[in-house]
Amino acid sequence: MTNSTLAGQVALITGGGTGIGLGCARALAADGAAVVLAARNTERLEAAAERLVAELPDAEVATVACDVTDEASVAAACEHAAEMGRFSIVVANAGYGSASPFHLTSTEEWNGVINTNLTGAFITMREAVPHLVAAGGGSIVAVSSIAGVETHRFMTPYTVSKAGLEMLVKQVADELGPSRIRANAVRPGLVPTDATEGMMQVPAIVDDYLAQMPLGRAGLPEEIGAAVRFLAGPESAWVTGTCMSVDGGHHLRRGPNLDAVMDMLHPDGTAPTA
Ligand code: NAP
Repeated sequence: MTNSTLAGQVALITGGGTGIGLGCARALAADGAAVVLAARNTERLEAAAERLVAELPDAEVATVACDVTDEASVAAACEHAAEMGRFSIVVANAGYGSASPFHLTSTEEWNGVINTNLTGAFITMREAVPHLVAAGGGSIVAVSSIAGVETHRFMTPYTVSKAGLEMLVKQVADELGPSRIRANAVRPGLVPTDATEGMMQVPAIVDDYLAQMPLGRAGLPEEIGAAVRFLAGPESAWVTGTCMSVDGGHHLRRGPNLDAVMDMLHPDGTAPTA
């Protein structure tokens, strides 16, 4: 069953067909928003939409093929959302990480992560803003990461992309508040999803993650979705420019020790030789 707190609003969720994005879509749809799941893999999007409607029969769920690195594709996804009604919620969630020693990080790897996580979020927000203004205001929520504030050795493009994303959110919040647009971020810690499947197979890494969390467990996509839902909805009407950690308290300690991954990828060592 859905309730109606967000009824009459349309939410666009990039990367909405899997993991955290799907958790966000579920939380928004459960409270009455029509949701548009946007990503590149349309088969996965369709399957996710079917699952959501099966769980929430009252929900209005649409899908749209979208690559956040492609301006025309993002503009079309925003048009699609606007045609469905009052397009007033955007979740900039699409993203991925990579792992390499700093001195072996290729420009291609750097550009790939930055183009998706940071430039893709910028394009998503920029293309959505005129629609949100036309809707009388709205809420943008970006999915950052604990990696935006804690170093993660061997993940430089990812950490830098998320740190940039948090400043992007603050810029949008400051500049567009007078247009009744709010912008905030959630900062998840470790959540088992497709993206973290490989890491979750390495006990040394999982143990180290858990040792850094006062609450001692990994999170769930639904727990990130609940925070995004709060920041999207009327309960946070006076909240803008914030980044909310949802990470079992991991931000209080240090970034994870990823040496075990590097030992597998680079058994000859990860430091440049003198
Ligand atoms: P995921 O299931 O792999 O989700 C990533 C989503 O992004 C996929 O649906 C993917 O769909 C989409 N995507 C990737 N590149 C895209 C592009 N160019 N255009 C449009 N969509 C694109 O992993 P996840 O863990 O849920 O990640 C979601 C977000 O949470 C990411 O921003 C990630 O950095 C962040 N995060 C995750 C964790 C964690 O522990 N899982 C922790 C902190 C932050 P397609 O491949 O079909 O396009």
